[in-house]
Amino acid sequence: MATPTAVPVANVPGGSFLIEERKPEDVFTPEDFTEQHLLIAQTAEEFAVKEIVPNIEKMEHKEFAVNRELLKKAGDLGLSGVDVPEAYGGMQLDKVTSAIIADRVAKYGGFSTTWGAHTCIGTLPIVYFGTEAQKKKYLPGLASGETVGAYALSESSSGSDALNCRTRAVLSADGKDYILNGEKMWITNAGFADLFIVFAKVEGEKFTAFIVERGFPGFSVGAEEHKMGIRGSSTCPLILSDCRVPVANVLGEIGKGHHIAFNVLNVGRFKLGAACVGSARNCIEGAIAYAKQRKAFGKVIADFGLIREKLANIAAGIFTGEAMAYRTVGMMDAAIGHLGAVHDEMVPVRKIIDEYAVECSILKVWGSEFISNVTDEVVQIYGGYGFVEEYPAERNYRDVRVNRIFEGTNEINRLVIAGFLLKRAMSGQLPLMAAIKKLMDEVLSGTTEESEEGPLYEERRLVARAKKIGLFAAGVATQKYMQTIGDEQEIMAAIANMVIETYAMESAVLRAHKLVAKNGEQASAQAVAMARVYMEGAMQKIESAARMVIAACGEGDMLRSQLAILRRLCKYDPFNVVALRRAIALRVIETGKYQVA
Ligand SMILES: Cc1cc2nc3c(=O)[nH]c(=O)nc-3n(C[C@H](O)[C@H](O)[C@H](O)COP(=O)(O)OP(=O)(O)OC[C@H]3O[C@@H](n4cnc5c(N)ncnc54)[C@H](O)[C@@H]3O)c2cc1C
Repeated sequence: MATPTAVPVANVPGGSFLIEERKPEDVFTPEDFTEQHLLIAQTAEEFAVKEIVPNIEKMEHKEFAVNRELLKKAGDLGLSGVDVPEAYGGMQLDKVTSAIIADRVAKYGGFSTTWGAHTCIGTLPIVYFGTEAQKKKYLPGLASGETVGAYALSESSSGSDALNCRTRAVLSADGKDYILNGEKMWITNAGFADLFIVFAKVEGEKFTAFIVERGFPGFSVGAEEHKMGIRGSSTCPLILSDCRVPVANVLGEIGKGHHIAFNVLNVGRFKLGAACVGSARNCIEGAIAYAKQRKAFGKVIADFGLIREKLANIAAGIFTGEAMAYRTVGMMDAAIGHLGAVHDEMVPVRKIIDEYAVECSILKVWGSEFISNVTDEVVQIYGGYGFVEEYPAERNYRDVRVNRIFEGTNEINRLVIAGFLLKRAMSGQLPLMAAIKKLMDEVLSGTTEESEEGPLYEERRLVARAKKIGLFAAGVATQKYMQTIGDEQEIMAAIANMVIETYAMESAVLRAHKLVAKNGEQASAQAVAMARVYMEGAMQKIESAARMVIAACGEGDMLRSQLAILRRLCKYDPFNVVALRRAIALRVIETGKYQVA
């Protein structure tokens, strides 16, 4: 049975955070984990520490039997089938649990990638779009880890532009099989997977998904790619040469493969975001331990302000990332909970996941860029030792790079974020235009509505300001470009950056506010400090993106008056981040790990 989230958080439309105020009780945070969530977190953590970490060297040297064995062990522990209905051998747990597992398993990039491809994009297409017969045949093996899954969308000539694929499918003369011809590229798990979700165009036009078994005639796998990182995962091309796929293995409807391709990518994106946060938690522990024993100028380097600054920034990012990740899956669970007893019917679940496509893309972009920054700073903390293979810092730095490329590149995801919101705004599904108009009237009349007094008043006021800055810049841009704004990619990406940072800082503040309400200000000082440190950087990024958009859209007096409004919206007293970072760092150094309290 699906587990309900511990607290009844608000059931809200995707993207609506931009125009509505949220209260702490509206969002799910790690502090709301149930006993069951904590138990699964512990199981996943122990699995990672005892089973994955001791096998890293073997996986790095491409002993893929180990990856298979680990997938089977994870299946035995019930970690692989959390998104699979019980009727087909899974656990059918909530999305918070899915994110917890992705987060805790992420101690080694090579296996995280194997794991993600198998449990997510390799399995979920059948969960969400399979027929009864397909589910019965394939899901029990996938949930137990006996069968390994993979997902084959990309081709050498079409990665981001995946719908432009060249692989063709033609119905055989006897009408029993589809004959597939083409080549797929960069397929994770291909070296050892049993089952592939392959996308091809029927009659050269109708983009369609097929379930392809490794043993089907005409199917073969090419040589392993030599990669910059995640060397412990398998990545190979697939060759489909008159590959016969029974008609019964068409997945979903002919010509509707894009629904499958993009729907499961949303799940891939939120799990990737959660995994990046888990990986950062792991990285900071290594960095603290190293900084506490490495000496320079007669001191351990953990005593230096500039090393402490890095550790504090990483901790503030983890606090924020956790807040964003669990808030997002909490919203999905709240919406799924509102469906009542229809958990066995997967159509509504996948529609809910689509509803939060913006939040999923935000998590993917934010998480992948955050972990790139973290691993870069950790290499710096290790100094020369960070640049050689002796310590994991060097491998982690290489391993995380791909996160900005797969599951939709970050450029594509930024366009998805801004495009999805503008589409909703234009169709009236999300009253963004009305919010922009209200804000324009407000700024022209010189009145600015502020949040209610109370805990974290200044922080909440800044979140409200961030939303206004984003709306103002988006308003200026839509007035200038109207329907053609989608063609202005730099403007779209800048709008996406403001949306991402607003979601991040709001999530951090709501989480800190919830902690203050529960435990009081003193006991929540670390959380509040981390939220403040994060906000300071986020506000700078938001202001800079807004300035760029406004400068690109206006000139003369109009530009001057728009910049004056922006300056007014951006007026706030800075936090003393030097003191805040010192306090955060002291606590993490003392305890040897990231700490919320
Ligand atoms: C290790 C690894 C594992 C992978 N695993 C899988 C897998 O299991 N299954 C699978 O199907 N695929 C997989 N991929 C493929 C991956 O999804 C693609 O590499 C990715 O989608 C990018 O496609 P591309 O490489 O063709 O780059 P391109 O699409 O050619 O992009 C090149 C650059 O142009 C930019 N760009 C492209 N289009 C636009 C646009 N419209 N506007 C602005 N900028 C644009 C991109 O952001 C990028 O910076 C994997 C890739 C790697 C490296």
